[in-house]
Amino acid sequence: MRMIFLGAPGAGKGTQARIVAEKHGLPQIATGNILRQAVKDGTTLGQEAKSFMDAGGLVPDGVMIGLIHERLQQPDAQKGWILDGFPRTQAQAEALDALLAKVQQDLDLVVDVQVPDAEIVGRLGGRWVCKQCEAPYHSKNNPPKTDKVCDHCGGELYQRADDKPDTVASRLTVYHTNTSPLIGYYQGRGNYRAVDGTQPIETVERALEAILAGVSR
Ligand code: ADP
Ligand code: ADP
Ligand code: ZN
Repeated sequence: MRMIFLGAPGAGKGTQARIVAEKHGLPQIATGNILRQAVKDGTTLGQEAKSFMDAGGLVPDGVMIGLIHERLQQPDAQKGWILDGFPRTQAQAEALDALLAKVQQDLDLVVDVQVPDAEIVGRLGGRWVCKQCEAPYHSKNNPPKTDKVCDHCGGELYQRADDKPDTVASRLTVYHTNTSPLIGYYQGRGNYRAVDGTQPIETVERALEAILAGVSR
């Protein structure tokens, strides 16, 4: 199973990708998580990416395509994968198609998690993320069992600097300009599915299970 999660920042891609990954034994490849780790480690990738991330913009396509090219060659990605946060531009989508064509693989599913902008600011304003494993929580919608402690790994939770309202506004503009056109790119191929991301997490999870059950292979 090779699938992509599309959707605005804060739509719940990471929340759902993590659940599907665990249930189906697939790697969750979250480009934002990979980039944040690179920034923390001070690698060349991190140095290239940091200013774009801080401003709520996109890291250049060439950098992202190189990153995904490498990641998809790793052993754990041979049985399939869940891309969470990639592609975010037409150039990235075309590059992914080219990578897959070269190894004669198909994209099985494109899930578009739909949430209106009005709800996004509250989602991201209340988001708390694990420093260790990047599991996302929400102060009201999905609180951890213990305040500021990750249920999964016991790591400390923090709020991302780019989740403050003015950066969120930039990220939403970037989403509507660069990423939402990918809906058109994937629609009509037969593997595009939209889900209502405003429903509770468990309801979205069930909707996804039904979609996954309908995808052959
Ligand atoms: P969110 O979970 O809120 O959608 P991510 O964690 O996926 O945000 O991404 C955080 C930041 O990392 C983005 O704002 C962007 O700067 C950068 N980034 C992540 N994925 C990509 C990508 N595919 N192309 C360009 N930039 C990316
Ligand atoms: P994305 O990866 O698309 O940026 P996240 O999965 O990190 O989004 O979710 C953004 C925030 O919204 C988090 O605080 C998360 O706990 C919360 N959230 C995720 N899904 C839902 C949902 N269906 N209903 C309410 N809140 C949600
Ligand atoms: Zn954790």
